[in-house]
Amino acid sequence: MQNINLEDYKGVYVFAQQVDNELSGIAFELLGEAGRLAKPLNTEVTAVLLGSNVGNLVDQLAEYGADKVIVVDNPELETYRTEPYAQALTAVINEFKPEIMLVGATAIGRDLGPTVSARVATGLTADCTVLEIGDFPINPIPGREQKHNQLLMTRPAFGGNTIATIACPDHRPQMATVRAGVMQKAEPKPGAKAEVINFDAKLEKNSKYVEIQEVIKSVAETVDIMDAKILVSGGRGVGSAENFKLLEDLAEALGGEVSCSRAVTDNGWLPVDRQVGQTGKTVRPQVYFAIGISGAIQHVAGMEESDLIIAINKDEDAPIFDVADYGIVGDLNKIVPQLTAAIKAA
Ligand code: FAD
Repeated sequence: MQNINLEDYKGVYVFAQQVDNELSGIAFELLGEAGRLAKPLNTEVTAVLLGSNVGNLVDQLAEYGADKVIVVDNPELETYRTEPYAQALTAVINEFKPEIMLVGATAIGRDLGPTVSARVATGLTADCTVLEIGDFPINPIPGREQKHNQLLMTRPAFGGNTIATIACPDHRPQMATVRAGVMQKAEPKPGAKAEVINFDAKLEKNSKYVEIQEVIKSVAETVDIMDAKILVSGGRGVGSAENFKLLEDLAEALGGEVSCSRAVTDNGWLPVDRQVGQTGKTVRPQVYFAIGISGAIQHVAGMEESDLIIAINKDEDAPIFDVADYGIVGDLNKIVPQLTAAIKAA
């Protein structure tokens, strides 16, 4: 049982849902309803705005009836995710102690509302269609104290077969999710201003999300060598990850991509998505350079259908020359820079 002083809790608060920096219609409906509920309580309407770079939405909230706007502006809140949003709204409730907290019964609100109500140890009436300020119990019950100025939250129950009116007399805030399209927006008052409170909710950095973002970024940056028209492919003969710079320069001069043999990916010089061959990718570029690659059958299986194959190898007996259209016998460390320079000069 929550041990709180109900008198500490003041004001009607509204979760001002925004998506992509645009306020959702439900935010205006809740503001209209909050204004109506605030009157008998003789209190103020506060909008809670969570997001990243959302300060520009404050004036709109003021025009639609917010006396105060609490803004939690944090990059973690850029797109809706349960954890940072729940952390932020929980922190706002713990700090500012609203008497009533209204959340839209949208996909976001249905997720956020119950999560937050559990964290602040209060009840939540879901999917309300009517809200009133009144006495609870509505009809006096002998021996039971009747409390005044309670939020009476009405919602369809038992599959819509009955209507239930629920109150939360011993806990605060009184929380409800409110069905969209039911409450009336207030008439906007152009130029109305609200008191703005920027609140640092001290959100935990969500490392998992950052990791996922990095994975997505790396996937987005991944080049599919199967699409490349020119591939500059290197093998063990290149010698090191650093020495692949020679091949990158050549690929850049040609407008191609770098690929490799399995010896290279096994050594960790390039990622596996660059590997050509039986256990890598099958490629068919217009031009395939095989540089410091011996020409093992498992490699050749992945590139022999290339339109034009140019091999560079210091061993004139290397099997790669059997499938090459052009062969250059020599040290790749000398030949590749010369080739790059010649192409750049052309
Ligand atoms: P190496 O065979 O060691 O050849 C290096 C070449 O570089 C040599 O020919 C050498 O003369 C030349 N060289 C060295 N120094 C220089 C220099 N300074 N200048 C010029 N040339 C130089 N391999 C793949 O590539 N792709 C696959 O998908 C693949 N799948 C496999 C699947 C299985 C089941 C197995 C068993 C193997 C697979 N392999 C695959 C491995 C394959 O058998 C070879 O081991 C591998 O292709 C050898 O890579 P490489 O040609 O880079 O190295």
